[in-house]
Amino acid sequence: MKTILTKRIQGLTQSPLLKMDARIKAMQRAGVDVISLGRGEPDFQTPLPIKKAGTRAIKEGFSHYTSTAGIPELKEALVEKFRKENNIIYDVSEIIVGSGTRPLLYIAFQVLCEKGDEAIVPLPTWGTYIEQVKLSEAKPVFIYLKPPFKLTSRDVKEKITSKTKVILLNSPSNPTGAVIDEKELRKIARLALKHNIWIIADEMYERLLFTGRHASIASFNKKIREKVITMNGFSKTYAMTGWRIGYAAGPKEIISSMVDLQGHLTANASSISQKAALGFVQSEKEVVRMIAEFSKRRAFLLQELLKIPQLEVTVPEGSFYFFIGIKSLLNKKYATAVLWCEALLDTKRVGLIPGEAFLAPGYARLSYASPIKRLKIAVKRIKEFIHES
Ligand code: PLP
Repeated sequence: MKTILTKRIQGLTQSPLLKMDARIKAMQRAGVDVISLGRGEPDFQTPLPIKKAGTRAIKEGFSHYTSTAGIPELKEALVEKFRKENNIIYDVSEIIVGSGTRPLLYIAFQVLCEKGDEAIVPLPTWGTYIEQVKLSEAKPVFIYLKPPFKLTSRDVKEKITSKTKVILLNSPSNPTGAVIDEKELRKIARLALKHNIWIIADEMYERLLFTGRHASIASFNKKIREKVITMNGFSKTYAMTGWRIGYAAGPKEIISSMVDLQGHLTANASSISQKAALGFVQSEKEVVRMIAEFSKRRAFLLQELLKIPQLEVTVPEGSFYFFIGIKSLLNKKYATAVLWCEALLDTKRVGLIPGEAFLAPGYARLSYASPIKRLKIAVKRIKEFIHES
């Protein structure tokens, strides 16, 4: 039977990440004691000042449409955040708040890319970028990174053509935790300016950094600032995945176009969530505590995973993931990372996300958004699985 779906929709790849996540959740609902290391979200509570601000907004009846770009007080607080933490001076008119970073990324690709354009995406990567590039009708051009997955300007240079419109940067990276060194980032900025290419810099995990300091590409100089859309959000740093608040900053012309498109899509982000997000200013103590806990978990896992010789372990510099090579474990029984992860889940009740979700077969992503006592059991079960298979 002829499908009624458009080619655009038929072209979407079903995410192995969501498939695995659904499988894990179904087992949990059925009462199985699954240790899910698949989650792309902190297991912590949203900080109290944010919760309180949200509750206050509900009580005060702040329940109408807001301005499409976001409430002024939140945009002003973000201007201050960019100035203090990222050394970038933005005007409020250069900020857009959206219903999560995801729709803002979608909107940015829609605004910048069209048929005939190319967007450079380093792999392994969060699969959503690729689907969003495809939805803009541009062609994703991949850079295949090997462990330790650190992007260099040379990798980028090799992929630039006269059609290159956008370079997508995600540092620290989901799924590898790799960081782009500042020296390389500066060279990438020079390449972008030379070839008149836009940069979408997804800095979602900037605070979850365990070595060195974060550098924002838009902060390097005035010229590059005009070619960068800096993406960020509250989901990870403030444990607010469900509240759906993200933001983007960039030159006024681009941001105004993004606001125009957002107006026809989601309109403003939830009024209550925007008011709640303003509590981020008072939440620093809780964020620091969360990062310290992530740091302990990372150290624990690093020590434990390095003891398993069959795994290829790269030390992640940031985010809350390990991206582990499992090629030596793939065999006739489990020929792909998808099959290996499914078997690990079915037999040992540990949920990892197969590398295919990040266009990197032969790997698995382990998220340490679980307490150390659960991580201990998970490592034990993974070891058992490796020995038995
Ligand atoms: N960017 C990166 C690198 C991510 O990993 C995610 C979520 O997993 C997002 C953006 C989207 O976050 P949200 O839409 O919750 O703001």
